[in-house]
Amino acid sequence: METERLKCLIIGSGPAGYTAAIYAGRANLSPVLYSGLQPGGQLTTTTDVENFPGYPQGINGTELMEDLRKQAERFGADIRAGVVTATDLSKSPYRITVDGSKILETETLIIATGATAKYLGLADEQKYAGMGVSACATCDGFFYRKKTVAVVGGGDTACEEAVYLAGLASKVYLIVRKPYLRASKVMQERVMNNEKIEVLFEHNAVGLFGEDGVEGVHLVKRLGEADEERYDLAIDGFFLAIGHKPNSEVFKPYLDTDEVGYILTEPGTPRTKIPGVFAAGDVADPHYRQAITAAASGCQAAIEAERYFSAK
Ligand code: NDP
Repeated sequence: METERLKCLIIGSGPAGYTAAIYAGRANLSPVLYSGLQPGGQLTTTTDVENFPGYPQGINGTELMEDLRKQAERFGADIRAGVVTATDLSKSPYRITVDGSKILETETLIIATGATAKYLGLADEQKYAGMGVSACATCDGFFYRKKTVAVVGGGDTACEEAVYLAGLASKVYLIVRKPYLRASKVMQERVMNNEKIEVLFEHNAVGLFGEDGVEGVHLVKRLGEADEERYDLAIDGFFLAIGHKPNSEVFKPYLDTDEVGYILTEPGTPRTKIPGVFAAGDVADPHYRQAITAAASGCQAAIEAERYFSAK
């Protein structure tokens, strides 16, 4: 298999990966970055990012990631398409296989693989995949203009997706399992003030139905301690927004993770238990999960990588 030797390999192309690439490029580490399954990361599946400092009017997520990529390239980062399929972190240089066809031997490794959308685990989600089920409103919302959709979840993502979909669809149901929304106040208000959105508190989706695509959802509504009501709701699209799973699977044989799969690092740093291997962004952050905190930890990881060489 083709083998290439590197000083600094960055895996992932979200805010953490690109920021690490900007810093590593400026530190002459000749970083190579593999962009993974979703180039640009999760922000490319969101609408406007209003809380990234420096954009008083907000910025489209895809545009922000394009800008970060260009900034990384300006400082010499070599950005490539490819997905990590195997790792060997047992000794330095660390061996990373990409697309099952190429081995990279690297002295430092920055893992910035982010997190992936979760599904409820219903068989119907698979049955109707691409036929009315989606985990990305900005990717698929266009197909539901003037239609009726449901969004599952009560966090910021769910609220953001519901508001986005309300701009396209004629009706949006927000299916929330608790009697309250977990989202930030500002997002809650946007949902509550949008007349196209109807929040169904204490509801769970338990199945979908339809001939050639989603035509409705089976719901269970909690009525007090022991009682419940089951009914069906006609919808054309079913959007999941119930959180994410960290993309750490391929590193788990070598690194410690928490029970969800977030990579454990030395508190306040991106250092893993392996010297020269760093974890930045959402793959190691169950707490903040923001673009700006991911970018900051990407910066820290690149500085750590540089110090790793200077301490040698
Ligand atoms: P969260 O973990 O915050 O919320 C997940 C939501 O999905 C919760 O309401 C949860 O319910 C619900 N849920 C989880 N599992 C199930 C299930 N099996 N069935 C039904 N409902 C379920 O995830 P988000 O993706 O919304 O947000 C992640 C982080 O990113 C947060 O910190 C958020 O603030 C941030 N974020 C910020 C944005 C911004 O600032 N622009 C935009 C999007 C996200 P329950 O409450 O009952 O656990």
